[in-house]
Amino acid sequence: MPPPRTRGTALRRQLAELRGPGVPARALDARALAALAANPGCRRRALLDGAGVDKAALAGALGAPSAFGQSQFALTRGNAFEARVKADGGAELLRLVHRRLDPAAEPPERAELPELSAAGPEGRAERTALALREATAAGAWTLLDHPMLALEVAGSPAFLEPDAVVVHPDGSWTVVEIKSFPMLDGSADPAKVGAAARQAAVYVLALEHAAARLDPAPRVRHRVLLVCPKDFSNLPTASAVDVRKQRAVTARQLARLTRVQDIADALPEGACFSPELPAEELTAAVEAVPAAYAPECLAACELAFHCRARARARGAVTALGRSVRAELGGLSTVDDVLTAARGEAGDPDDPAVAALRRAARLRAEALAGHRPAAPPGGHRQETLEQDGERQGAACR
Ligand code: SF4
Repeated sequence: MPPPRTRGTALRRQLAELRGPGVPARALDARALAALAANPGCRRRALLDGAGVDKAALAGALGAPSAFGQSQFALTRGNAFEARVKADGGAELLRLVHRRLDPAAEPPERAELPELSAAGPEGRAERTALALREATAAGAWTLLDHPMLALEVAGSPAFLEPDAVVVHPDGSWTVVEIKSFPMLDGSADPAKVGAAARQAAVYVLALEHAAARLDPAPRVRHRVLLVCPKDFSNLPTASAVDVRKQRAVTARQLARLTRVQDIADALPEGACFSPELPAEELTAAVEAVPAAYAPECLAACELAFHCRARARARGAVTALGRSVRAELGGLSTVDDVLTAARGEAGDPDDPAVAALRRAARLRAEALAGHRPAAPPGGHRQETLEQDGERQGAACR
């Protein structure tokens, strides 16, 4: 008799159907999770990421390819630098961890390098959990090279692969992030360090889940090691980064994500996101899932051009940026805003409506006598969108 189908199995099958026949699941990485947590109101992204849909391929099939991702040159350079940092059994990497994070411990003369290979992400996560348990019990410096960590996100498992995790002689665990942007005179581009810290915070959360399964639970350090090339050389240098704030924000945002199961259940029968399908069918499936477009999406999500075009076509004020959106209260489209400003609609007691009418009056007075008054806000949407997108670009 076949085993009873659990809720988890049913969800996995449902998500596989959403990807399309034979389409493999794309693994969620920490970068995607950090971006997901940055826009927790977007059900569309939560569902597509939860189902393992390749959003870049989907965006291409929708006719709105993303201008997103790392160049091949940057990837090659990053891989070469990481190999250098981890050469000689990770001797230099452990020396940096000892010097920056745990100088009171015995120096890492020799370190354990457990074998972590196994079949599939579940197998690798189990192998990593075992290696962490053994290393913690052994009380010796141990380097886990590309371990696999599991974290439940919006009701489905995400498998995450940090560059390295180090187990200290006192049994505590440290996340190591290796990046190819330079550290000049001991400091690096704050935006890049911030993105690396958000990514490392996701790994810290996943490690905490792994630690909670041990008794006693080992300490997961909240200061991670960021390793970068020193100045313009290829020599590694490192800095300790405190990720407590990013960890707290990410944990809160991930907990707020709507469960993927609930979003999938609300889809029309037969909805599918396979890039093989015709663009009209894909558009209908994508549009069946509510989105929360904001200019910040341009720096964080492969579907940004598609969602922006749809938001503009609807005249949604979300396309103008979060700060403008917040100022407009219950007015959700540009048409609502313009008719409210002209006094043709809207509650005059609504502070947003009253402010718009005052602004329209002042504008008309300022223009009177110079040239015929343009409709209030006539060219304003484009300007505000450009402002919002500049804000989004600044976050990159
Ligand atoms: S681009 Fe679209 S799918 Fe992606 S986060 Fe923004 S609204 Fe959501």
